[in-house]
Amino acid sequence: MSLKIGKKECAAAGIFVAAALLFLYVRDRNGIESVLEVAGYETIQEDAEKEGRGKIALTFDDGPHPYYTEQILDGLKKRGIRATFFVTGMNVEKHPEIIERMHEEGHLIGNHTFYHTQLSKKNREKFKEELIRTSEVISEITGEDVIYVRPPYGSWDKSFETELNMFPVLWTIDPLDWCSTNVACITDNVVKKVDENDIILMHDYYATSVTAALRVVDELTEEGYQFVTVEEILFD
Ligand code: ZN
Repeated sequence: MSLKIGKKECAAAGIFVAAALLFLYVRDRNGIESVLEVAGYETIQEDAEKEGRGKIALTFDDGPHPYYTEQILDGLKKRGIRATFFVTGMNVEKHPEIIERMHEEGHLIGNHTFYHTQLSKKNREKFKEELIRTSEVISEITGEDVIYVRPPYGSWDKSFETELNMFPVLWTIDPLDWCSTNVACITDNVVKKVDENDIILMHDYYATSVTAALRVVDELTEEGYQFVTVEEILFD
């Protein structure tokens, strides 16, 4: 018995082998993703983006800084994004024009004490005075009451809430931007952990924080997250 293979069969077999080799090549280059694309994974991802992954809030402590805060404000304005700034009274007095700009551009401004003081058992009255004084210097510029406070190092006394009608805002993600100059590391610390309603702690006081914060904004906007002020996370 002889096996006859015609030209047509030969050509068909050739095309099949070429297609199989191309598939293996693509799979090896792109790993599982190319297979998921075929399975419609991309469509699922696009749907999630349309629906949105939820709200998150970017917060900046310790400013305003004459250079870095302006850079962050420029970047946020370009992207149409609002954030929350917890400022110290001493820096507000030095740079009132930056507070004015924050307010005009729709950012939320909170209290971070006057001299960045940590509350302890010994300094309760001094701490309280700093909160009052800081709220006063902010209100003089914005014309609005200051409701939110981020206590330095998270030390807080609940009775201030009724005494001063202030609300403490802590954080859920701390990328430790103040102790690293590695932008990719800071960005990854946020992007890999983030979930709906997270409050991200950063500082408008370092060049790396500026770059990392704007990278976080770009990456998470792309993923479908919506950046809002802390007020919208806490009360909406
Ligand atoms: Zn601080």
